[in-house]
Amino acid sequence: MGVISEQGTPLPPGPEQNALLGRVTGELQDRGFVIAQLDNLVNWARTGSLWPMTFGLACCAVEMIHAYVSRYDLDRFGVVPRPSPRQSDVIIVAGTLTNKMAPAFRKVYDQMAEPRYVISMGSCANGGGYYHYSYSVVRGCDRVVPVDVYVPGCPPTAEALVYGVLQLQKKIKRTGTLWR
Ligand code: SF4
Repeated sequence: MGVISEQGTPLPPGPEQNALLGRVTGELQDRGFVIAQLDNLVNWARTGSLWPMTFGLACCAVEMIHAYVSRYDLDRFGVVPRPSPRQSDVIIVAGTLTNKMAPAFRKVYDQMAEPRYVISMGSCANGGGYYHYSYSVVRGCDRVVPVDVYVPGCPPTAEALVYGVLQLQKKIKRTGTLWR
């Protein structure tokens, strides 16, 4: 549906249409209404309640726990860890992913509802890390699931993980749609 001018004629996109929409928005706000685009509203809600699936695999998990507790308190960003993939929006892969664990990891990912996101935390999850040449380690969790944000380091600091979460929020705001 297009925008109709005050004279009743269709108004194409451009400065005139912007001015008209600006006037209508101002008038509605004066009367106590707030208007927003639905996908902006959904993205705002999504980015403010990113619930991560707890998936600590090795030493990196300790830094992940550090990010959750009192000093950095990820709760204040709406990041509240959940023990169930069905209630999670993002999975933080914190540690060394072994070949033995990979099928279980994929199953947990498959059980998460769309839209779902993945943060790969630390050198091991990013590319195998110290164990890159080991017979038993997956050389990066992106061989098993698609990754949205990589947090580098061995281990990355808790601050780095918080930064990674903020980057994911930005990415969702930038690219998020109702359907992924
Ligand atoms: S990246 Fe380093 S700290 Fe993290 S799981 Fe691997 S060895 Fe441990």
